[in-house]
Amino acid sequence: MLSERELVRYGRQLLVSKLGKDGQLKLKRARVAVIGVGGLGCTSSLYLALAGVGKLLIVDSDRVELSNLNRQILHWTKDIGRLKVESAAEKLREVNPEIEVEAVAARVTEENAHELIKEADLVVDGLDNFKTRFLVNDACVEQGKPFVHAAVHGLEGRLMTILPGESPCLRCLLPAEPPEVKPIPVLGATAGVMGCLEAMEAVKVIAGVGKPAVGRLIVVDGLAMAVEEVRVERRPDCPACSRRQQP
Ligand SMILES: [Zn+2]
Repeated sequence: MLSERELVRYGRQLLVSKLGKDGQLKLKRARVAVIGVGGLGCTSSLYLALAGVGKLLIVDSDRVELSNLNRQILHWTKDIGRLKVESAAEKLREVNPEIEVEAVAARVTEENAHELIKEADLVVDGLDNFKTRFLVNDACVEQGKPFVHAAVHGLEGRLMTILPGESPCLRCLLPAEPPEVKPIPVLGATAGVMGCLEAMEAVKVIAGVGKPAVGRLIVVDGLAMAVEEVRVERRPDCPACSRRQQP
């Protein structure tokens, strides 16, 4: 059931015909893990909190630095030095006290990846490197959890939604880990746009509405202000997908 407060708080999105009360209840019952609360994770977790996702689990081991503030919108100047998960959880709880936020200060490793996402119905990529993305991808594919992936570089962002058993995964898209660029150049707005798209995909998958970017890599080219779509096929030799029983 939705409370009177929730009916008012979410009133405008309840008017979205495809979403409605049924969709809102699904969001309320959902548990979403956002792995990384940097540029992508701050924006996606904020919009998931605003949308009324019942439980958000945020995972990050880093502390807020001055150089994060151009894009990591939940961390403010006063937060420099704090754990990112503490800074983010505080803002998310304040922006929507109706939801539950669990903060885990941990780095994702091969050992803990499965445990971290175990309780989640869906996982959102808030990471900044493909090594960890692959770990999360593999855990999601193995456990059958939808995984919304995004990455940013400069004014460009990419997004793909992975539905294990139905769609190609991150390893189908990228057979090898791309070379790491550190630090990644990025305009705050790029992370904002892509974080919003991630939240939109997560809401759609949870509520079961619309058509997620499954088997399609969405490339947002901010410099040209163009959006392109690249078809992604499942690789029969994908090490992640082949470990999973196909339906
Ligand atoms: Zn795969």
